[in-house]
Amino acid sequence: MNESEPVVALSEAEIKHQRRLAQYRKHYNSHKEQAREYYRKNKDKFAKRCVEYRKKNPERHRENARRQYAKNPAARIASTVKSQKKHAAKRAAYMLAWRAKNKEHLLRYYHEKRVTPEWKIRAIQAHHKRTALKNKCEVRATKTDLKKFLESATHCHYCGTNKAKLTVDHFVPLSKGGAHALENFVPACKSCNSSKRDRDPHEFMRSIGRLL
Ligand SMILES: [Zn+2]
Repeated sequence: MNESEPVVALSEAEIKHQRRLAQYRKHYNSHKEQAREYYRKNKDKFAKRCVEYRKKNPERHRENARRQYAKNPAARIASTVKSQKKHAAKRAAYMLAWRAKNKEHLLRYYHEKRVTPEWKIRAIQAHHKRTALKNKCEVRATKTDLKKFLESATHCHYCGTNKAKLTVDHFVPLSKGGAHALENFVPACKSCNSSKRDRDPHEFMRSIGRLL
């Protein structure tokens, strides 16, 4: 006998609640099935309600989304990618329509920014930097180094042409641990650069008969 433990009598309401809870547990699975069935039948209604809620409470919706993302970022990203893939055709059509509608704006944008030599250098530098970081390569060359290098390039290191437009090639490819640095730069025509890809430079030169 333990006298220190008091016997608590349940109130009427509590008993009722307990009884209801027991009922709920007993029928839990069939309830769940019913709820699912109801949702399936009224899917459109739920979707509409969701859209309305988002419109009415943009702040709360954003906050909810943020919380969901923090809980499991990988899952949220996967779900977004899945949805984007599912609606790929719709998205593409939307983008096409948007581009058509904003043609002038886009043209202005391209002309003002993208076609300037400065922008091109910037894009090339960014691209190489990304690849270098991905492969854990050293990055020492700056945008200015790249610009100067391309300006002073006279002929393709591999085929010797001076007629084609020259690009920067990493002699030891970034994917093989080569650095994004001046001493690893060689000028290459577009054709040589794209046929070399990430091959070993010596192997490539042998294959085009420049090295025995
Ligand atoms: Zn070449």
